[in-house]
Formats: sequence, C-alpha cells, structure tokens
Amino acid sequence: MFNFLALGSNISPRIGIVLKCIDSLKKSFPKSFKASSLYETAPYQNSKQKPYINCCVQLKTELSAHDLLKHVLQLESTLGRVRTGKKWDNRTIDIDIILFGEQIIQTVDLTVPHYDLSNRDFFIIPLLELHPELINPRSGQTLKKELSLLPLQLKTFPKIVQ
Ligand code: ADP
Ligand code: MG
Repeated sequence: MFNFLALGSNISPRIGIVLKCIDSLKKSFPKSFKASSLYETAPYQNSKQKPYINCCVQLKTELSAHDLLKHVLQLESTLGRVRTGKKWDNRTIDIDIILFGEQIIQTVDLTVPHYDLSNRDFFIIPLLELHPELINPRSGQTLKKELSLLPLQLKTFPKIVQ
C-alpha cells in the first residue's frame, strides 16, 4: 500500500527547501521511497501569490494517517513554516497527504484523498509520473481521466525544472 504526499514552496530558496524536505522524508520513510521531478507551477486560481515549486513523493509507513499528518506538520515547522492563519498565503513549505493507500478519511483535521485532488494538475501530473495507473478512491476514476477533464481555468501548467 503506497501513500502519496504533495510538497509545495513559493518562498526563496524554493528548490532548496523542497529538496531538503524530500531528503528528510526519505530518511524517515526509506521503504519504497520515490520522488517526482520538481515542477514550477503558476499560482492556483490566479491568486496574487508567487509561483510555486511542487512535487510529489511516494512512501510506505507503518504509521496511521493521523500520525503521518503529525509527522509532516512537525516537518513543516522544522523547515521554517510559519502559519499566518490566512488561507492561500505564501509558504516556505506545504506538505499535504494526497492519498493514503485506498483509504477514504474524513475527520476534522484530515481529509484524504486531498479534498481538491481532482482539480489540481500540480498534484495529478507528479502523481502520474510516480504511478501512471493511480485511481482516486473517492471518485473511482483514474487520475489520468481526471486530468483530461480538468477545465482550462483551473490549469496551472506545471513545467519540469529539475
Ligand atoms: P492548506 O494545505 O489547505 O493550504 P494548511 O497546510 O495550512 O492548509 O493545513 C491546515 C490543516 O489542514 C492542517 O493542520 C491539517 O489538519 C488539515 N488537513 C486536512 N486534510 C489534510 C491533508 N490531506 N493533508 C494535510 N493537511 C490536511
Ligand atoms: Mg497543507
């Protein structure tokens, strides 16, 4: 059972921060660990934010989804994320749990699959790079199909940078 996280940073040095985050996750979860290419992505939904570096990683763990969430929130703080409380704020690092095996989790502090997975090409494209046959367990659709259905106004056109 594979789990997938999405990483994003839009505060300098974006690439360095994302690479550091990948390194740390790989050390904590060495089993079956894989990281996608890094993508540069226009800010989502035309907000006034700076462009992001995004990527996804695949990992295996014995932790529960909630304990994995605790781990990644802790890692966000270690890497210097300060929460301003504003939605859509610039961030040194954002780590989201996108898929946890085929589980569907809906609790106050955790929604998996990520609530907006079907609308975000900057999640789906790196996920497909890691695992081309992935299925969104909420919709039952392949991610490939969901990507093909994405409306133009939601597209962020991720470009590989590394
Ligand atoms: P966002 O990622 O939506 O920009 P934050 O990174 O500030 O927002 O996260 C706020 C809260 O979202 C986290 O403290 C966590 O409890 C909650 N959350 C719900 N589902 C998830 C998920 N799948 N992955 C990560 N955090 C999640
Ligand atoms: Mg987050």
